[in-house]
Amino acid sequence: MGVDRIKIFDTTLRDGEQAPGCGMTIEEKLRVSYQLEKLGVDIIEAGFPASSEGDFQSVKLIAEKIKGCEIAGLCRANFNDIDRAWEAVKRGENPRIHTFIATSDIHLKHKLRKTQDEVLEIISAAVKHACRYTSNVEFSCEDATRTPLDFLCRAVDIAVKAGATTINIPDTVGYTVPDEFSLILRALRESVPELENVILSVHCHNDLGLAVANSITAVREGARQIECTVNGLGERAGNASLEELVMAIKVRQDKNPYVTNVVTEQIYPTSRLVSKVTGVAVQPNKAIVGANAFAHEAGIHQDGVLKERSTYEIMTPEEVGIPSNKIILGKHSGRHAFKNRLEEFGYFLEPDDFERAFNGFKDLADKKKYVFDEDIEALISDEFIRSTDHFKLISANFSSGTEMKPVATVKMVIGEVEVQASEYGDGPVDAAYKAIGKATGESPNLQSYIVSAITGGTDAQGEVHVRVEEDGAVSQGQGAHTDIVVASAKAYINALNKLRWRKQHPRKTTAKGI
Ligand SMILES: [Zn+2]
Repeated sequence: MGVDRIKIFDTTLRDGEQAPGCGMTIEEKLRVSYQLEKLGVDIIEAGFPASSEGDFQSVKLIAEKIKGCEIAGLCRANFNDIDRAWEAVKRGENPRIHTFIATSDIHLKHKLRKTQDEVLEIISAAVKHACRYTSNVEFSCEDATRTPLDFLCRAVDIAVKAGATTINIPDTVGYTVPDEFSLILRALRESVPELENVILSVHCHNDLGLAVANSITAVREGARQIECTVNGLGERAGNASLEELVMAIKVRQDKNPYVTNVVTEQIYPTSRLVSKVTGVAVQPNKAIVGANAFAHEAGIHQDGVLKERSTYEIMTPEEVGIPSNKIILGKHSGRHAFKNRLEEFGYFLEPDDFERAFNGFKDLADKKKYVFDEDIEALISDEFIRSTDHFKLISANFSSGTEMKPVATVKMVIGEVEVQASEYGDGPVDAAYKAIGKATGESPNLQSYIVSAITGGTDAQGEVHVRVEEDGAVSQGQGAHTDIVVASAKAYINALNKLRWRKQHPRKTTAKGI
């Protein structure tokens, strides 16, 4: 590996997934992992195995299936957690144990109730224990940027001496600013010369909107691994956004002469997939992947005011994989064309799944004149990712208008049993939600409901995002359909499935990680 190669450590499935309402099921995590592999990330942090049975199973499955990336499992600096993490990742290719403990005074005093010397002993013992399993051991000082610098240096020194091969310096609370972070990393490298022999990593949170800037600064100070998430998901304001980091490096090679292994054309498909499986919509003005990130294309440019693209464009939408809205398939497209298109998206379906998807496509092509890439992707991920859901929608019918009371009837499969229910409501969506509530016996609070269009035109598919809450557990769901009431029903059912998954796999700890 050349000195200027930056490893991308993706923690969408751990830090991202831990954020309230961003929970994913095991099938969803696996699907995202396949896409992350295609995107070219170096390390996938697949979860925190000791935190719940669901996390353990997900990490284990991902380690078994994904062979193009290192798979990391997070664990606290105790033997039980480390053993559990190893048990989950050990079948992976070059599996990694990522262990951590807090080092700042505020955490030592209020959370750990330990002295600095006790913490140093724990670090040494934990890293040595992890190294019995593998040499691929990462150690993180949680809340490093609020840790007294001399103690941070001692902690890092002990971890390196105990055998850690990656040292991660997290800005856990998103508090540092670039010049300060530079000084911290410079001081560390000066006082712990052995750091030259390991990979220095950073993990920045975005509470002040500085996560990407801090991460880029760290690379200039010698960091060769960046921890980040797709769409910047993560605790509170999220983590450094993968797409922003990668494009900042790629577009500004003059200032950032580094390389990553990321296939930038896979950025947008990955962003869409993560938005779909988490149910978290991407804000329109989000850099790189937001709906307006390249919006000048359509407006000024098409007016012919601009003759030269580069007037306003520092990168092209094609570079990040944004489809050019080309019509790809229509009513008369056959199985073969559809299959080819799916494989271009990276979906290799089993024959039964393919038939279901193809039927869905035919239905859509009957309703819509043009079928766009985004439509296909919305359709397929519904069929492919959600096929093992507990609550499944078979059909939804409703009627409403200015002179009648809205009513909805839903037919669903719950587990193995088919159920039908009808309800009246204030509007068709309300009626559909009440009918779903009656069929499933679930009635969480609906916290938010957002509708948007996937593509242009009045025949566009509507995309609905909902957020529900029950006893403090939050989940988000997403659904797409040419009929927004059906899209709404699908989004609600998706959120109910996630809420159910969360309830079945309760977290065993309040510890969140770095
Ligand atoms: Zn974090």
